[in-house]
Amino acid sequence: MAGTKTDNLEGDVLISYDPSNGEMIGTVRKTSIDELEEKVRTARNAQKIWSALTIDERIDYLKKCADALRGRAGEISELLSREMGKDLRRSTNEVRSCCDDVSFKTAEIKEALKTRVIEGDGMETQIQYNPLGVCAVIAPWNYPVSMGHWLIIPTLIAGNTVIYKPSEETPLVAGAYVDAFNEVLPEGVLQIVYGDGKLGDALVRSEVDLVAFTGSRETGKKIMTSAASGLKRLIMEMGGKDPMIVLEDADIERAARFAVASSFENAGQMCVSTERILVDEKIADEFEELAAANVQRYKIGPWTDPEANIGPIINEKQRNKIISHIEDAVAKGAKVLAGGTDHPPRYVMPTVLSNVTQDMLIWQEETFGPVACITRFRDLDEAVRLANDSTLGLGAAVFGKKDAEEVANRLEAGMVGINRGPIGIGDSPWAGAKQSGIGYHGSPDGHRQFTQVRTITRRK
Ligand code: NAD
Repeated sequence: MAGTKTDNLEGDVLISYDPSNGEMIGTVRKTSIDELEEKVRTARNAQKIWSALTIDERIDYLKKCADALRGRAGEISELLSREMGKDLRRSTNEVRSCCDDVSFKTAEIKEALKTRVIEGDGMETQIQYNPLGVCAVIAPWNYPVSMGHWLIIPTLIAGNTVIYKPSEETPLVAGAYVDAFNEVLPEGVLQIVYGDGKLGDALVRSEVDLVAFTGSRETGKKIMTSAASGLKRLIMEMGGKDPMIVLEDADIERAARFAVASSFENAGQMCVSTERILVDEKIADEFEELAAANVQRYKIGPWTDPEANIGPIINEKQRNKIISHIEDAVAKGAKVLAGGTDHPPRYVMPTVLSNVTQDMLIWQEETFGPVACITRFRDLDEAVRLANDSTLGLGAAVFGKKDAEEVANRLEAGMVGINRGPIGIGDSPWAGAKQSGIGYHGSPDGHRQFTQVRTITRRK
Protein backbone atom coordinates (compact mmCIF):
# COMPACT_ATOMS: atom_id res chain seq x y z
CA MET A 1 0.00 0.00 0.00
CA ALA A 2 1.53 3.32 -1.01
CA GLY A 3 1.45 6.07 1.58
CA THR A 4 0.61 4.03 4.63
CA LYS A 5 1.43 5.03 8.16
CA THR A 6 4.16 2.46 8.50
CA ASP A 7 6.42 4.74 6.47
CA ASN A 8 5.87 7.80 8.62
CA LEU A 9 8.76 7.10 10.96
CA GLU A 10 11.85 8.29 9.05
CA GLY A 11 13.18 11.83 8.95
CA ASP A 12 12.42 14.90 11.02
CA VAL A 13 8.67 15.03 10.42
CA LEU A 14 5.76 12.77 11.21
CA ILE A 15 3.56 12.42 8.15
CA SER A 16 -0.06 11.75 8.93
CA TYR A 17 -2.09 9.75 6.41
CA ASP A 18 -5.78 9.03 5.99
CA PRO A 19 -5.88 5.25 6.60
CA SER A 20 -8.80 4.80 4.19
CA ASN A 21 -6.91 5.99 1.10
CA GLY A 22 -3.29 6.72 2.02
CA GLU A 23 -3.58 10.43 1.25
CA MET A 24 -1.39 12.70 3.30
CA ILE A 25 -3.38 14.83 5.73
CA GLY A 26 -0.53 16.86 7.13
CA THR A 27 2.83 16.80 8.81
CA VAL A 28 4.24 17.76 12.15
CA ARG A 29 7.86 18.27 13.13
CA LYS A 30 9.25 15.66 15.49
CA THR A 31 10.40 16.86 18.88
CA SER A 32 14.17 16.55 19.34
CA ILE A 33 15.71 15.21 22.53
CA ASP A 34 17.04 18.70 23.38
CA GLU A 35 13.56 20.15 22.95
CA LEU A 36 12.11 17.38 25.07
CA GLU A 37 14.50 18.15 27.90
CA GLU A 38 13.71 21.87 27.63
CA LYS A 39 9.99 21.09 27.83
CA VAL A 40 10.50 18.99 30.93
CA ARG A 41 12.36 21.94 32.56
CA THR A 42 9.51 24.27 31.57
CA ALA A 43 7.00 21.81 33.02
CA ARG A 44 8.99 21.66 36.26
CA ASN A 45 8.85 25.46 36.64
CA ALA A 46 5.19 25.65 35.63
CA GLN A 47 4.35 22.93 38.16
CA LYS A 48 5.41 25.17 41.04
CA ILE A 49 2.83 27.77 40.00
CA TRP A 50 0.13 25.26 39.00
CA SER A 51 0.36 23.31 42.26
CA ALA A 52 0.19 26.53 44.28
CA LEU A 53 -3.33 27.12 42.94
CA THR A 54 -6.22 25.70 44.92
CA ILE A 55 -7.86 22.59 43.51
CA ASP A 56 -10.96 24.71 42.77
CA GLU A 57 -8.85 27.10 40.70
CA ARG A 58 -7.36 24.21 38.73
CA ILE A 59 -10.82 22.72 38.20
CA ASP A 60 -12.04 26.08 36.98
CA TYR A 61 -9.27 26.10 34.36
CA LEU A 62 -10.19 22.60 33.23
CA LYS A 63 -13.86 23.42 32.87
CA LYS A 64 -12.83 26.30 30.60
CA CYS A 65 -10.58 23.86 28.68
CA ALA A 66 -13.65 21.64 28.16
CA ASP A 67 -15.54 24.68 26.84
CA ALA A 68 -12.68 25.45 24.44
CA LEU A 69 -12.70 21.83 23.26
CA ARG A 70 -16.49 21.97 22.84
CA GLY A 71 -16.08 25.10 20.73
CA ARG A 72 -13.82 23.19 18.33
CA ALA A 73 -15.57 19.81 18.62
CA GLY A 74 -16.78 19.72 15.00
CA GLU A 75 -13.37 20.40 13.50
CA ILE A 76 -11.57 18.05 15.91
CA SER A 77 -14.07 15.20 15.38
CA GLU A 78 -13.60 15.44 11.63
CA LEU A 79 -9.83 15.42 11.98
CA LEU A 80 -10.13 12.38 14.27
CA SER A 81 -12.08 10.52 11.60
CA ARG A 82 -9.67 11.48 8.84
CA GLU A 83 -6.59 10.55 10.79
CA MET A 84 -7.77 7.41 12.58
CA GLY A 85 -10.50 6.19 10.22
CA LYS A 86 -13.53 5.74 12.47
CA ASP A 87 -16.89 7.09 11.36
CA LEU A 88 -17.90 10.63 12.23
CA ARG A 89 -20.60 9.58 14.69
CA ARG A 90 -18.05 7.70 16.78
CA SER A 91 -15.50 10.53 16.55
CA THR A 92 -18.10 13.09 17.57
CA ASN A 93 -19.12 10.93 20.54
CA GLU A 94 -15.50 10.55 21.57
CA VAL A 95 -14.81 14.29 21.56
CA ARG A 96 -18.16 15.20 23.14
CA SER A 97 -17.73 12.68 25.93
CA CYS A 98 -14.36 14.25 26.77
CA CYS A 99 -16.00 17.69 27.01
CA ASP A 100 -18.89 16.38 29.06
CA ASP A 101 -17.01 14.22 31.53
CA VAL A 102 -14.88 17.08 32.83
CA SER A 103 -17.55 18.43 35.18
CA PHE A 104 -18.41 15.02 36.55
CA LYS A 105 -14.81 13.81 36.83
CA THR A 106 -13.49 16.98 38.41
CA ALA A 107 -16.05 16.73 41.24
CA GLU A 108 -15.16 13.07 41.88
CA ILE A 109 -11.42 13.81 41.80
CA LYS A 110 -11.77 16.76 44.17
CA GLU A 111 -13.61 14.55 46.64
CA ALA A 112 -11.00 11.78 46.35
CA LEU A 113 -8.07 14.16 46.97
CA LYS A 114 -9.50 15.79 50.09
CA THR A 115 -7.24 15.48 53.12
CA ARG A 116 -8.51 12.75 55.41
CA VAL A 117 -8.08 12.64 59.16
CA ILE A 118 -7.78 9.64 61.48
CA GLU A 119 -8.10 10.26 65.24
CA GLY A 120 -7.31 8.02 68.21
CA ASP A 121 -5.26 7.74 71.41
CA GLY A 122 -5.06 11.54 71.71
CA MET A 123 -3.40 11.74 68.30
CA GLU A 124 -4.40 12.78 64.81
CA THR A 125 -3.04 11.70 61.43
CA GLN A 126 -3.76 13.74 58.35
CA ILE A 127 -3.62 11.85 55.06
CA GLN A 128 -2.77 14.27 52.26
CA TYR A 129 -2.79 13.67 48.52
CA ASN A 130 -0.15 16.00 47.12
CA PRO A 131 1.10 16.57 43.59
CA LEU A 132 3.85 14.31 42.28
CA GLY A 133 5.50 16.80 39.94
CA VAL A 134 5.93 16.43 36.18
CA CYS A 135 4.06 13.55 34.54
CA ALA A 136 4.48 11.91 31.16
CA VAL A 137 1.25 10.84 29.48
CA ILE A 138 1.82 8.38 26.60
CA ALA A 139 -1.21 7.39 24.54
CA PRO A 140 -2.26 5.06 21.69
CA TRP A 141 -4.05 5.85 18.42
CA ASN A 142 -7.31 3.90 18.69
CA TYR A 143 -9.17 6.54 20.74
CA PRO A 144 -6.74 9.36 20.01
CA VAL A 145 -8.59 12.04 21.96
CA SER A 146 -10.09 10.20 24.92
CA MET A 147 -7.15 7.96 25.82
CA GLY A 148 -4.86 10.95 26.44
CA HIS A 149 -7.69 12.96 28.00
CA TRP A 150 -8.55 10.25 30.55
CA LEU A 151 -5.00 10.45 31.91
CA ILE A 152 -4.43 14.19 31.48
CA ILE A 153 -7.46 15.26 33.55
CA PRO A 154 -6.62 13.48 36.84
CA THR A 155 -2.94 14.34 36.41
CA LEU A 156 -3.61 18.07 36.07
CA ILE A 157 -6.25 18.33 38.78
CA ALA A 158 -3.86 16.69 41.23
CA GLY A 159 -1.49 19.63 40.65
CA ASN A 160 0.97 18.00 38.27
CA THR A 161 2.05 19.30 34.90
CA VAL A 162 1.99 17.09 31.81
CA ILE A 163 4.23 16.24 28.90
CA TYR A 164 1.91 14.44 26.49
CA LYS A 165 3.20 12.11 23.80
CA PRO A 166 0.39 10.97 21.54
CA SER A 167 0.75 8.13 19.07
CA GLU A 168 2.80 8.77 15.94
CA GLU A 169 -0.27 7.53 14.02
CA THR A 170 -2.54 10.35 15.19
CA PRO A 171 -0.39 13.42 15.95
CA LEU A 172 -2.64 16.01 14.32
CA VAL A 173 -5.80 15.37 16.28
CA ALA A 174 -3.82 15.16 19.51
CA GLY A 175 -2.21 18.49 18.63
CA ALA A 176 -5.63 20.06 18.01
CA TYR A 177 -6.84 18.80 21.42
CA VAL A 178 -3.80 20.31 23.17
CA ASP A 179 -4.22 23.59 21.26
CA ALA A 180 -7.80 23.86 22.55
CA PHE A 181 -6.65 23.31 26.14
CA ASN A 182 -3.79 25.76 25.72
CA GLU A 183 -6.19 28.53 24.76
CA VAL A 184 -6.92 28.45 28.50
CA LEU A 185 -4.11 26.86 30.51
CA PRO A 186 -1.09 28.78 31.81
CA GLU A 187 2.07 28.20 29.79
CA GLY A 188 3.95 24.97 30.47
CA VAL A 189 1.10 23.15 32.24
CA LEU A 190 0.26 20.89 29.27
CA GLN A 191 2.88 20.43 26.55
CA ILE A 192 2.86 18.02 23.65
CA VAL A 193 5.82 16.21 22.10
CA TYR A 194 5.74 14.46 18.74
CA GLY A 195 7.56 11.29 17.84
CA ASP A 196 7.54 7.52 17.85
CA GLY A 197 8.64 4.99 20.43
CA LYS A 198 12.19 6.39 20.54
CA LEU A 199 10.90 9.72 21.78
CA GLY A 200 8.52 7.90 24.13
CA ASP A 201 11.49 6.06 25.58
CA ALA A 202 13.45 9.33 25.98
CA LEU A 203 10.44 10.82 27.76
CA VAL A 204 10.25 7.89 30.17
CA ARG A 205 13.98 8.28 30.91
CA SER A 206 13.74 12.08 31.31
CA GLU A 207 13.26 13.92 34.62
CA VAL A 208 9.57 13.04 34.93
CA ASP A 209 8.06 11.72 38.15
CA LEU A 210 5.21 9.58 36.83
CA VAL A 211 4.58 7.80 33.55
CA ALA A 212 0.88 7.30 32.81
CA PHE A 213 0.67 5.03 29.78
CA THR A 214 -2.03 3.44 27.67
CA GLY A 215 -0.92 1.11 24.91
CA SER A 216 0.25 -2.39 24.15
CA ARG A 217 1.68 -4.86 26.62
CA GLU A 218 4.90 -5.04 24.60
CA THR A 219 5.46 -1.28 24.99
CA GLY A 220 4.45 -1.51 28.65
CA LYS A 221 7.30 -3.96 29.26
CA LYS A 222 9.77 -1.58 27.60
CA ILE A 223 8.49 1.35 29.65
CA MET A 224 8.87 -0.62 32.86
CA THR A 225 12.46 -1.43 31.96
CA SER A 226 13.30 2.18 31.06
CA ALA A 227 11.56 3.53 34.16
CA ALA A 228 13.43 1.16 36.45
CA SER A 229 16.69 3.12 36.75
CA GLY A 230 14.82 6.17 38.07
CA LEU A 231 12.19 4.06 39.90
CA LYS A 232 9.53 6.17 38.21
CA ARG A 233 5.92 5.79 39.26
CA LEU A 234 3.92 3.90 36.64
CA ILE A 235 0.25 3.68 35.74
CA MET A 236 -0.10 1.38 32.75
CA GLU A 237 -3.27 0.38 30.92
CA MET A 238 -2.41 -2.28 28.36
CA GLY A 239 -3.91 -4.75 25.92
CA GLY A 240 -6.71 -7.23 26.38
CA LYS A 241 -7.91 -10.61 25.09
CA ASP A 242 -11.39 -10.28 26.53
CA PRO A 243 -13.54 -13.40 26.83
CA MET A 244 -17.31 -13.44 26.66
CA ILE A 245 -19.10 -16.45 28.12
CA VAL A 246 -22.57 -17.37 26.86
CA LEU A 247 -24.35 -19.68 29.29
CA GLU A 248 -27.10 -22.14 28.38
CA ASP A 249 -29.88 -19.93 29.80
CA ALA A 250 -28.67 -16.69 28.12
CA ASP A 251 -30.92 -14.55 25.94
CA ILE A 252 -29.24 -15.92 22.82
CA GLU A 253 -30.33 -13.18 20.43
CA ARG A 254 -29.10 -10.46 22.72
CA ALA A 255 -25.86 -12.32 23.39
CA ALA A 256 -25.19 -12.88 19.68
CA ARG A 257 -25.84 -9.21 18.89
CA PHE A 258 -23.51 -8.10 21.67
CA ALA A 259 -20.81 -10.63 20.69
CA VAL A 260 -20.63 -9.33 17.15
CA ALA A 261 -20.98 -5.65 18.06
CA SER A 262 -18.30 -5.89 20.71
CA SER A 263 -15.92 -7.81 18.44
CA PHE A 264 -16.36 -5.28 15.60
CA GLU A 265 -16.48 -2.01 17.58
CA ASN A 266 -13.98 0.54 16.24
CA ALA A 267 -13.11 -2.07 13.57
CA GLY A 268 -12.08 -4.31 16.47
CA GLN A 269 -9.42 -1.80 17.44
CA MET A 270 -10.58 -1.45 21.01
CA CYS A 271 -8.81 -2.71 24.14
CA VAL A 272 -12.05 -3.99 25.73
CA SER A 273 -13.49 -5.49 22.56
CA THR A 274 -14.56 -9.12 22.79
CA GLU A 275 -11.76 -11.29 21.40
CA ARG A 276 -12.95 -14.75 22.46
CA ILE A 277 -16.58 -15.93 22.60
CA LEU A 278 -17.18 -19.05 24.66
CA VAL A 279 -20.57 -20.65 24.12
CA ASP A 280 -22.27 -23.55 25.87
CA GLU A 281 -22.30 -26.37 23.33
CA LYS A 282 -26.02 -26.95 23.95
CA ILE A 283 -26.92 -23.60 22.38
CA ALA A 284 -23.91 -23.16 20.11
CA ASP A 285 -25.55 -24.03 16.77
CA GLU A 286 -28.27 -21.42 17.25
CA PHE A 287 -25.81 -18.86 18.62
CA GLU A 288 -23.45 -19.29 15.67
CA GLU A 289 -26.26 -18.89 13.17
CA LEU A 290 -27.45 -15.70 14.87
CA ALA A 291 -23.92 -14.29 15.13
CA ALA A 292 -23.29 -14.87 11.43
CA ALA A 293 -26.66 -13.26 10.55
CA ASN A 294 -25.75 -10.18 12.60
CA VAL A 295 -22.83 -9.43 10.29
CA GLN A 296 -25.35 -8.00 7.82
CA ARG A 297 -25.58 -4.95 10.07
CA TYR A 298 -22.00 -4.03 9.26
CA LYS A 299 -20.50 -2.24 6.32
CA ILE A 300 -16.88 -1.37 5.75
CA GLY A 301 -16.06 2.04 4.33
CA PRO A 302 -14.37 5.38 4.92
CA TRP A 303 -15.71 7.91 7.41
CA THR A 304 -17.15 9.91 4.52
CA ASP A 305 -19.60 7.07 3.81
CA PRO A 306 -22.53 7.71 6.16
CA GLU A 307 -23.60 4.04 6.05
CA ALA A 308 -20.20 2.59 6.93
CA ASN A 309 -19.70 1.44 10.50
CA ILE A 310 -16.39 -0.40 10.16
CA GLY A 311 -13.53 1.81 9.11
CA PRO A 312 -10.10 0.99 7.73
CA ILE A 313 -7.38 -0.65 9.80
CA ILE A 314 -4.91 1.90 11.11
CA ASN A 315 -1.88 0.69 9.13
CA GLU A 316 -0.59 -2.11 6.98
CA LYS A 317 1.34 -3.82 9.78
CA GLN A 318 -1.79 -4.07 11.93
CA ARG A 319 -3.90 -5.23 8.96
CA ASN A 320 -1.35 -7.93 8.10
CA LYS A 321 -1.41 -9.12 11.70
CA ILE A 322 -5.21 -9.48 11.73
CA ILE A 323 -5.23 -11.30 8.40
CA SER A 324 -2.44 -13.62 9.51
CA HIS A 325 -4.48 -14.49 12.63
CA ILE A 326 -7.51 -15.34 10.49
CA GLU A 327 -5.42 -17.40 8.05
CA ASP A 328 -3.66 -19.26 10.84
CA ALA A 329 -7.01 -20.05 12.48
CA VAL A 330 -8.51 -21.33 9.22
CA ALA A 331 -5.42 -23.44 8.51
CA LYS A 332 -5.78 -25.02 11.96
CA GLY A 333 -9.47 -25.88 11.54
CA ALA A 334 -11.54 -22.76 12.29
CA LYS A 335 -14.69 -22.48 10.20
CA VAL A 336 -15.54 -19.17 8.48
CA LEU A 337 -19.20 -18.35 9.16
CA ALA A 338 -19.03 -14.83 7.69
CA GLY A 339 -16.40 -12.56 6.14
CA GLY A 340 -13.25 -14.54 5.67
CA THR A 341 -9.82 -14.32 4.16
CA ASP A 342 -10.52 -12.09 1.16
CA HIS A 343 -10.20 -8.45 2.19
CA PRO A 344 -10.16 -5.23 0.18
CA PRO A 345 -7.06 -3.04 0.56
CA ARG A 346 -6.88 -1.13 3.87
CA TYR A 347 -9.85 -2.99 5.42
CA VAL A 348 -10.56 -6.32 7.06
CA MET A 349 -13.94 -7.86 6.32
CA PRO A 350 -16.06 -8.30 9.46
CA THR A 351 -15.50 -11.98 10.11
CA VAL A 352 -17.08 -14.65 12.30
CA LEU A 353 -15.08 -17.82 13.01
CA SER A 354 -16.25 -20.93 14.85
CA ASN A 355 -14.18 -23.90 16.08
CA VAL A 356 -11.52 -21.57 17.43
CA THR A 357 -9.03 -23.50 19.56
CA GLN A 358 -6.24 -22.70 22.00
CA ASP A 359 -3.43 -23.61 19.59
CA MET A 360 -4.36 -20.73 17.26
CA LEU A 361 -2.64 -17.33 17.19
CA ILE A 362 -6.07 -15.73 17.26
CA TRP A 363 -6.62 -17.31 20.68
CA GLN A 364 -3.19 -16.52 22.07
CA GLU A 365 -2.45 -12.94 20.92
CA GLU A 366 -4.45 -9.72 20.92
CA THR A 367 -5.87 -9.50 17.37
CA PHE A 368 -7.29 -5.96 17.46
CA GLY A 369 -9.44 -6.43 14.38
CA PRO A 370 -13.10 -7.05 13.41
CA VAL A 371 -13.14 -10.79 14.06
CA ALA A 372 -15.65 -12.65 16.26
CA CYS A 373 -14.09 -15.93 17.44
CA ILE A 374 -16.36 -18.67 18.78
CA THR A 375 -15.34 -21.66 20.91
CA ARG A 376 -17.69 -24.20 22.48
CA PHE A 377 -17.55 -25.39 26.10
CA ARG A 378 -19.13 -28.35 27.89
CA ASP A 379 -19.59 -27.10 31.46
CA LEU A 380 -18.99 -24.08 33.70
CA ASP A 381 -15.55 -25.21 34.85
CA GLU A 382 -14.39 -25.53 31.28
CA ALA A 383 -15.85 -22.10 30.43
CA VAL A 384 -13.98 -20.46 33.29
CA ARG A 385 -10.75 -22.33 32.53
CA LEU A 386 -10.89 -21.26 28.87
CA ALA A 387 -11.79 -17.65 29.75
CA ASN A 388 -8.85 -17.41 32.15
CA ASP A 389 -6.45 -18.99 29.66
CA SER A 390 -4.63 -15.73 28.89
CA THR A 391 -1.85 -13.72 30.44
CA LEU A 392 -4.02 -10.66 29.78
CA GLY A 393 -7.04 -9.79 31.92
CA LEU A 394 -8.63 -6.49 30.98
CA GLY A 395 -12.39 -7.01 30.52
CA ALA A 396 -14.80 -9.94 30.37
CA ALA A 397 -18.53 -10.50 29.95
CA VAL A 398 -20.94 -13.23 31.00
CA PHE A 399 -24.35 -13.66 29.41
CA GLY A 400 -26.82 -15.87 31.24
CA LYS A 401 -29.05 -16.06 34.29
CA LYS A 402 -28.68 -18.69 37.02
CA ASP A 403 -24.88 -19.07 37.15
CA ALA A 404 -23.83 -15.73 35.63
CA GLU A 405 -22.74 -14.12 38.89
CA GLU A 406 -20.83 -17.17 40.10
CA VAL A 407 -18.99 -17.32 36.78
CA ALA A 408 -18.29 -13.55 36.84
CA ASN A 409 -16.70 -13.91 40.28
CA ARG A 410 -14.30 -16.56 38.95
CA LEU A 411 -12.97 -14.52 36.03
CA GLU A 412 -9.44 -13.11 36.09
CA ALA A 413 -10.26 -9.68 34.68
CA GLY A 414 -10.22 -6.13 35.98
CA MET A 415 -13.71 -5.31 34.67
CA VAL A 416 -16.53 -7.83 34.20
CA GLY A 417 -20.01 -7.22 32.81
CA ILE A 418 -23.07 -9.44 33.34
CA ASN A 419 -25.42 -9.39 30.33
CA ARG A 420 -23.58 -6.25 29.16
CA GLY A 421 -20.08 -5.05 28.37
CA PRO A 422 -17.38 -4.85 31.03
CA ILE A 423 -17.05 -1.09 31.55
CA GLY A 424 -18.32 0.07 34.96
CA ILE A 425 -20.74 2.95 35.36
CA GLY A 426 -20.02 6.35 36.94
CA ASP A 427 -16.65 6.86 38.56
CA SER A 428 -15.64 3.18 38.44
CA PRO A 429 -12.03 2.09 38.14
CA TRP A 430 -10.68 1.45 34.66
CA ALA A 431 -8.51 -1.46 35.63
CA GLY A 432 -6.75 -4.41 34.06
CA ALA A 433 -5.81 -7.64 35.82
CA LYS A 434 -2.71 -9.73 35.09
CA GLN A 435 -0.56 -8.21 32.32
CA SER A 436 -3.31 -5.81 31.20
CA GLY A 437 -2.69 -3.27 33.93
CA ILE A 438 -0.28 -1.87 36.49
CA GLY A 439 -2.13 0.66 38.63
CA TYR A 440 -5.32 2.15 37.27
CA HIS A 441 -7.37 5.31 36.89
CA GLY A 442 -10.97 6.20 37.74
CA SER A 443 -12.58 5.84 41.21
CA PRO A 444 -11.21 7.49 44.37
CA ASP A 445 -8.30 5.04 44.61
CA GLY A 446 -7.50 5.50 40.93
CA HIS A 447 -7.47 9.31 41.19
CA ARG A 448 -5.08 9.10 44.15
CA GLN A 449 -2.53 7.25 42.04
CA PHE A 450 -1.69 10.56 40.37
CA THR A 451 -0.59 11.98 43.73
CA GLN A 452 2.07 11.54 46.39
CA VAL A 453 0.42 10.50 49.62
CA ARG A 454 1.84 12.06 52.79
CA THR A 455 0.76 11.54 56.39
CA ILE A 456 1.28 14.13 59.12
CA THR A 457 0.70 12.93 62.67
CA ARG A 458 0.56 15.02 65.82
CA ARG A 459 -0.69 14.96 69.38
CA LYS A 460 -3.96 16.79 69.80
P1 NAD B 1 1.72 1.02 21.35
O1 NAD B 1 2.12 0.37 22.62
O2 NAD B 1 2.39 0.59 20.11
O3 NAD B 1 1.93 2.61 21.44
C1 NAD B 1 1.35 3.37 22.48
C2 NAD B 1 2.20 4.60 22.71
O4 NAD B 1 3.47 4.21 23.25
C3 NAD B 1 2.49 5.40 21.45
O5 NAD B 1 2.44 6.77 21.74
C4 NAD B 1 3.93 4.98 21.12
O6 NAD B 1 4.66 5.92 20.38
C5 NAD B 1 4.50 4.83 22.51
N1 NAD B 1 5.71 4.01 22.58
C6 NAD B 1 6.11 3.02 21.74
N2 NAD B 1 7.28 2.48 22.18
C7 NAD B 1 7.62 3.15 23.31
C8 NAD B 1 8.69 3.05 24.24
N3 NAD B 1 9.68 2.15 24.08
N4 NAD B 1 8.72 3.88 25.30
C9 NAD B 1 7.72 4.78 25.50
N5 NAD B 1 6.69 4.93 24.66
C10 NAD B 1 6.63 4.12 23.57
O7 NAD B 1 0.14 0.83 21.25
P2 NAD B 1 -0.81 1.29 20.06
O8 NAD B 1 -0.59 0.39 18.90
O9 NAD B 1 -0.72 2.75 19.89
O10 NAD B 1 -2.25 0.99 20.70
C11 NAD B 1 -2.86 -0.26 20.70
C12 NAD B 1 -2.65 -0.97 22.02
O11 NAD B 1 -3.12 -0.16 23.11
C13 NAD B 1 -3.44 -2.26 22.12
O12 NAD B 1 -2.65 -3.24 22.74
C14 NAD B 1 -4.63 -1.90 23.01
O13 NAD B 1 -5.21 -2.98 23.69
C15 NAD B 1 -3.97 -0.94 23.95
N6 NAD B 1 -4.95 -0.07 24.60
C16 NAD B 1 -5.23 -0.29 25.92
C17 NAD B 1 -6.20 0.47 26.54
C18 NAD B 1 -6.53 0.25 28.00
O14 NAD B 1 -7.22 1.09 28.58
N7 NAD B 1 -6.10 -0.82 28.62
C19 NAD B 1 -6.88 1.46 25.83
C20 NAD B 1 -6.56 1.67 24.49
C21 NAD B 1 -5.59 0.88 23.88
